[in-house]
Amino acid sequence: MTLPLSSRLRARCLDSAYALRQRVHRHHRALGATVAILLAGFGVTAFGIAPLAPDAADLPRQQITLDVAHHLDRLQLDALDGAALLLPRSDVTRADDSVDSLLRRLGVQDDGAAAWLRRDASARPLWQGGGGKMVTATTDQDGLLMQLVARLPLAASATEPEGPPSAFQRLRLTRDATQADHWQTELETVPFTATTRLASGTIDSSLFAATDAAGLPDGVAMQLVEAFANEIDFHRQLRKGDRFTLVYETLYADGEPVSWGGGGGRLLAAEFVNAGKAYTAYWFGEGKGGYFDADGQAKRRAFLASPLAVSRMTSGFAMRVHPISGQWRAHKGVDYGAPSGTPVRVVGDGVVELAGRQSGYGNVVQVRHAGGKATLYAHLSRVDVRAGQRVEQGQRVGAVGATGWATGPHLHFEYKIDGVQTNPVKLAKLAETTTLSTPQLARFEGTVAGLRGPLTAAAQVAGAPGRRFE
Ligand SMILES: [Zn+2]
Repeated sequence: MTLPLSSRLRARCLDSAYALRQRVHRHHRALGATVAILLAGFGVTAFGIAPLAPDAADLPRQQITLDVAHHLDRLQLDALDGAALLLPRSDVTRADDSVDSLLRRLGVQDDGAAAWLRRDASARPLWQGGGGKMVTATTDQDGLLMQLVARLPLAASATEPEGPPSAFQRLRLTRDATQADHWQTELETVPFTATTRLASGTIDSSLFAATDAAGLPDGVAMQLVEAFANEIDFHRQLRKGDRFTLVYETLYADGEPVSWGGGGGRLLAAEFVNAGKAYTAYWFGEGKGGYFDADGQAKRRAFLASPLAVSRMTSGFAMRVHPISGQWRAHKGVDYGAPSGTPVRVVGDGVVELAGRQSGYGNVVQVRHAGGKATLYAHLSRVDVRAGQRVEQGQRVGAVGATGWATGPHLHFEYKIDGVQTNPVKLAKLAETTTLSTPQLARFEGTVAGLRGPLTAAAQVAGAPGRRFE
């Protein structure tokens, strides 16, 4: 659901009660550059004070013109030609870009620079790993390239906490003033800056239809699902009228919004109302980081609510409201309709008891968990584990198929306690949770205090679309 607030109001919301910009977060580096923003359809926008925009879709065709490269490298560029008029222009690389096509869009007319970019190894990261890289070219008035700055995704690292990255790589190629067709190259790791946004939506046809309507980047939609993955089975339990409200970050690299990896930064807080019951989740970044309810109880539990991860692929298939399958049936299991090949994940830590073929079940995996519990995954098209193997919650054990007595591709899932099939809805409820330590809890409560206001505000706006919000 789009919230038609004006940009002026957004700025005011922030200024009044919530003061989110006071919040200390990971993205510290202030941008030492002048940022001029032209928003088609909007007049003056106080973008500099971290707008609490309801959603990204609310900012139609924003063209961000910023002379970051210019500013950051003033000294270097001044050394090139003190009198030159320098023109920065930004674009995003495409998967099928060549040096020529990219330079053309950037307004560069410079055969020497093009030849150098084609042959020099230091320019190679521009073309690796697909398109979507943000590039700013600075030319002189004749179109000669003075500097090219590219912002690239940072490869995931083991030391980063889970979730969205906190930094990007800046590749900077600067013309050497002293030698013709010589270039200085520099590659550095730079933290993102972040602004906080609100969004809300109501589920009518499917989860992704609602998150799309709310203008949520896929990366944030997936975090929403993961935050509640232990409580809500998004394949079976979604209902028409379910609603969500959330507070999330939008990341900027040198002042430009980042769209890599599904886009969007960290989901900071969320409420999901499922079948009339409200669930809340707050991100707390200590240690590996994770989601907690308002009382500081971890959302992460011993069992996931669903053996199928949520994706656009499965959402079109089985995540419609009122699913035709996915009921607890007389045959003591739950069937999930899903395309053949959809990954199947083990819902809790355990040891594989059985991985092989049994007539009715087809390819089947059974995993033993602590406390006399076991889960079974049947009709698989492939099995990715072997008997005796230890598996961790969320680990892929196979893929959806139609082996055994199956009329079409689906996952047959069973949950057993002491060998007796039990309704898996009870899984999450039975599972134990962890709570934060007392000193952590004090810090967590500070986090919650800063996020509760915006979350409530987003919910109120969702309940009364178009209402002025000051
Ligand atoms: Zn079944």
